[in-house]
Amino acid sequence: TATEYHRAPLTIRHLLNGVVAKAGDQRIVYRDRADIDYREFVGRVGRLASLLEAAGATQGMTVAVMDWDSHRYLEAYFAVPMMGAVLQTVNIRLPQPQIAYTLQHAEAEILIVHRDFFPIVEALRSRLPRLKAIVAIMDGAGDALPSWCIGEYETLSAAASPDYPFEDFDENAVATTFYTSGTTGNPKGVCFTHRQLVLHTLAISAPFGASDAAPWIGVGDVYMPLTPMFHVHAWGFPYIATMLGLKQVYPGRYEPATICALRETHGVSYSHCVPTVLEMVLNSAEDRGADLAGWKVTIGGSALTRSLLARGQAHGMRLGAAYGMSETCPVVAVAGRRELPGDEGGAGMPDPLSLAGVSAPLVEVRIADENMNPAPHDGRTRGEVVVRSPWLTPLYTGDRKATDALWRGGWMHTQDIATIDPWGQVQIRDRLKDVVKTGGEWVDSLQLEELVATGEGIAEAAVIAVPDVRWGERPLAVVVAAPGCVPTLDSINLPVDFAIADGRITRYARLDRFAVVDQLPRTSVGKIDKKLLRARYAEDAPS
Ligand code: ADP
Repeated sequence: TATEYHRAPLTIRHLLNGVVAKAGDQRIVYRDRADIDYREFVGRVGRLASLLEAAGATQGMTVAVMDWDSHRYLEAYFAVPMMGAVLQTVNIRLPQPQIAYTLQHAEAEILIVHRDFFPIVEALRSRLPRLKAIVAIMDGAGDALPSWCIGEYETLSAAASPDYPFEDFDENAVATTFYTSGTTGNPKGVCFTHRQLVLHTLAISAPFGASDAAPWIGVGDVYMPLTPMFHVHAWGFPYIATMLGLKQVYPGRYEPATICALRETHGVSYSHCVPTVLEMVLNSAEDRGADLAGWKVTIGGSALTRSLLARGQAHGMRLGAAYGMSETCPVVAVAGRRELPGDEGGAGMPDPLSLAGVSAPLVEVRIADENMNPAPHDGRTRGEVVVRSPWLTPLYTGDRKATDALWRGGWMHTQDIATIDPWGQVQIRDRLKDVVKTGGEWVDSLQLEELVATGEGIAEAAVIAVPDVRWGERPLAVVVAAPGCVPTLDSINLPVDFAIADGRITRYARLDRFAVVDQLPRTSVGKIDKKLLRARYAEDAPS
């Protein structure tokens, strides 16, 4: 009733309120293959829900998607949670056995899959007995449908009713789930509720915290994601863009030339990506003389270096950093040029646009020592970044131990080491987690060093992350040779290559550099001193 509406649950369907009325004619484009308006989009959201219901979807059931960035993915972002089911965005870059693991672990019962991933599904189907229906996306190809699917996305959608009776339910129902490999061991499942996604969408939709804020999304922008939609809801921006009724451009698989062409054709004005994707786009634009002027791009996932910032700015791009992680939905902080009083910042200060930035609305950020004592905001004292906000993942699905560690002391532990300056600006300095982030993808350094250590002629091995201009970081193997042996890059890679071929480790783990030492440094308790190794190789790592 009207009197109860003030307590309407914050469910995702409310993000669509009023959108057709104010932006009904606005376009949502997928490469050169689809161009629909918001009226059609909302109808297609209803159609998807209807077809999923016919396929057996029920409240609480997991519906998984394996697709490139597309208008279809956006439809799933809305339709699946809006009907009360849980959307699993499958990381298609993981090795096959890990994809199977995540689908099993999330108990996916329905799968929507692009034809490019049919070989994966064919290989994995027998291991996924829970899957009761698979919807195939042919993406314009006229090939015959595989026998194991219930039909083709467009055909089923066209036959389904656009008028699905979406209803409200508890805002604390889980809306989405996906897996992060940013920790050691198996990928870990995180999940987000309707309430969390709605609050994140609202809070992050406005520029905040800075007088001359980093470039941000807003009314009048044309939006194109360049962080995959399987990864933390493309940092939440598709929800924001849709709520604001912006023109949206979905690039499919990321190909730098296509990205530049789409940007020109559609006047894309706002995107977001990891530094490596920006590098690729800059290289491609320089090769073909594409115009990037005025393009606002938020950079996250790894540090935005001074040189990359300057290179983009030389093209007239407007760049700025943001900070977050899979576990945080993800946005926690955004860079902005703040008015620093006098020259107190000092001449050697990094550009404020490249910092992790200041906290987003509703977010508390602290740096803390091991006993959770907050460290001073003097720009020098380091501590672990711990956060609180209404939209952090409550748990790692089915992993009590990891969840307890994540939420130790009532704050979420990021395992990032940072300083905070007197203006509240967070600067990431180091990382506690034993993972390497290369081109936006994680490599488990413990797993990699176990592999390297099994190689012939290797007595001992340690793997650390070292800075790399192109990839942000690359793994470096520091090895002690067995007596009389001379390791080479090939001999060190031999066990790694086997593991890549078996899908036990990602292909980004293949080593391209190593160092041989007489002995590995140890801490007082006898563990390999990775901190010391990282410091030793931070500047002039062997290449
Ligand atoms: P995403 O890549 O979407 O940020 P992940 O969970 O894969 O999410 O990675 C999160 C980690 O990436 C953080 O814990 C941090 O180590 C690193 N990171 C994210 N943003 C930044 C940034 N602006 N500067 C430095 N490191 C960052």
